[in-house]
Amino acid sequence: MLRSRLAPTPSGYLHLGNAFSFLLTWLVVRKQHGHLHLRIDDLDADRAKPDYYDDIFTTLDWLGLDCDSGARNTYDCLRNWSQKHRLNEYHQALMRLADAGEIFACECSRSLLTTIASNGVYPGECRAKGIPLTQSNTAWRVRLVEGASDVQFYDAAQGEMSMDAARAQGDVIVRRRDGIPAYHIASLVDDTLDAITLVVRGADLLPSTAVQIALAQKLGLAGFPTATFLHHALLTEDSGKKLSKSHDSLSLRAMRENGTSAEEVIARCAVLMGFDTPYSSLQALLEAFSLEKFPQR
Ligand SMILES: [Zn+2]
Repeated sequence: MLRSRLAPTPSGYLHLGNAFSFLLTWLVVRKQHGHLHLRIDDLDADRAKPDYYDDIFTTLDWLGLDCDSGARNTYDCLRNWSQKHRLNEYHQALMRLADAGEIFACECSRSLLTTIASNGVYPGECRAKGIPLTQSNTAWRVRLVEGASDVQFYDAAQGEMSMDAARAQGDVIVRRRDGIPAYHIASLVDDTLDAITLVVRGADLLPSTAVQIALAQKLGLAGFPTATFLHHALLTEDSGKKLSKSHDSLSLRAMRENGTSAEEVIARCAVLMGFDTPYSSLQALLEAFSLEKFPQR
């Protein structure tokens, strides 16, 4: 059975781009009678706020997007589903990578990184320094060797794809300086434990997909690399800039407060998906939707 997930982060109010991504995931899953899990990526406690958790549940209810498992409300999330409950599993994965010699400690400061990794790709500065993994105030990075980190995966819109994870991201951080497992590890371990077979995400996360498949291969996790991916185009502001949570005026919360209806949001997303008809009902959109017709944007 197809299993997918919504994976919002409670670090800001959700915006139209999130609605688009949720709706697309929901459509693919419901069309194929699959299972939809709600996972909330809340490992970054500095940015997670109660209001932002609430906003996730309010938004999903408002849009009418139901999930089959996962948290039902903020209290249920914190008590039963928060990523904090999986810290052991994330740390086990980190230790396996460390035991296999795949990890090195990095002491580069943020300001040094802006100089040496200005394109976002870490150039391997600390790879050969031999800094003990036990040294405090260091991040852990995984060794991704260029040329040996080429991964293949299947994208439902674009077909077979291949990408060199090292070239895309360099030696990514897998454990933060404060000891918290980083996004790539948490996301990969969660998708594996939740037996996810379809990952829908924005095209900006293509390099992350490559990195996570490379990590899965190092960890011997067979499931994730064989999942189907669907990388969709990102919605942009009128100025062409990527929508982000820092623009409160474009949040779904602000739209709700200004009297925009859920039907209007769904209709707008339907048009953005390439439908000529601005379907405003979920059921009508679900009937019209097929992944084969989803445009390659
Ligand atoms: Zn470094």
